[in-house]
Amino acid sequence: MHALTIRGADTGAQLTLEEVAEPAPTSQDLLVEGLALGVCGTDRSIIARGVRRSAPGRDWLILGHESLGRVLHAPPGSAYSPGDLVTGLVRRPDPQPCANCAAGDLDLCENGEYTERGILGQDGYGAQRYLLDPAYAVRVDPVLGLAGVLVEPTSIVAKAWERLDVAARRPGGRALVLGAGPIGLLAALLAHQRGYDVHVVDQVADGPKVAQVRALPATYHQGVESLAGEFDAVLECTGELVAAAVTRTARGGALCLVAGLHRGAEVGTVDLAAVSGALMGGNRTFTGVVSSSRQHFEAAHSALRTAAPDWLSGLMTTVVPLAKYAEAFAPDPHAIKTVIRLTDAAV
Ligand SMILES: [Zn+2]
Repeated sequence: MHALTIRGADTGAQLTLEEVAEPAPTSQDLLVEGLALGVCGTDRSIIARGVRRSAPGRDWLILGHESLGRVLHAPPGSAYSPGDLVTGLVRRPDPQPCANCAAGDLDLCENGEYTERGILGQDGYGAQRYLLDPAYAVRVDPVLGLAGVLVEPTSIVAKAWERLDVAARRPGGRALVLGAGPIGLLAALLAHQRGYDVHVVDQVADGPKVAQVRALPATYHQGVESLAGEFDAVLECTGELVAAAVTRTARGGALCLVAGLHRGAEVGTVDLAAVSGALMGGNRTFTGVVSSSRQHFEAAHSALRTAAPDWLSGLMTTVVPLAKYAEAFAPDPHAIKTVIRLTDAAV
């Protein structure tokens, strides 16, 4: 079978489509046919900066963590059957689970000894067949079709909203999303589903990102300068507009960082008096999220099932067959979500 492999550390990493051994079936794992793989910034970062930890016993890793697959074989008593659509959680607990991992909150691992499929120390889902422990599988409603591959990225913003739902002063008030990439647009979708008046900022003047914002419907702004007023819930999804996100958060509102600060971004000097005034004096909440657990996958799946199918299709601007994988990793400022079809099977 074919798989997308990545080998090498630092800037010498090499992404290759190659023939690898079929996974050896086990008595406890699902055998899954890979249908689709979503590509995101984490994948591009691994290609640019190399593999931090390869799979056990070798110096390479199968790439990919945004998955959609079909069960080919399920062990008896697993609650899954052949034909079921599934996606897989990304993180696995540390070998000696910390308190959070032991409780199933893998995304909150305290000691950093976790592994992640396709990212850190475990093969990913960028293969035509792979094994998936049913404990880390999430069932996907066939009605979602190819959009089932969006469950993983949506799980990150579902986690952000889990926090904003508690912290934002006025549910259904004004929401600001910085960035109209896949994460930003999915964050905007969940804001819209909560009844917020949604505003989305990006740099482009037109194209699919702007169309998706307007179709939600939400208000598109080209550049933060064109924003007016403050917002009850703010999601920073660019890694570049943290300062703007802080200053646009209303009293009693909440800001959630969904992207890490870009390397080389201008941070300047932090005025602790201003931060204190914003947090305590203004009853604001600043938080941030990375990774996700089962509850976030389940929330994401529910959110996608209630979204307009055409809108979800509009997010997947680039869909390529596995043989043309290189196109999936080429930079394209107008593309939103890029998806690789792993087999010819219909979804
Ligand atoms: Zn842990």
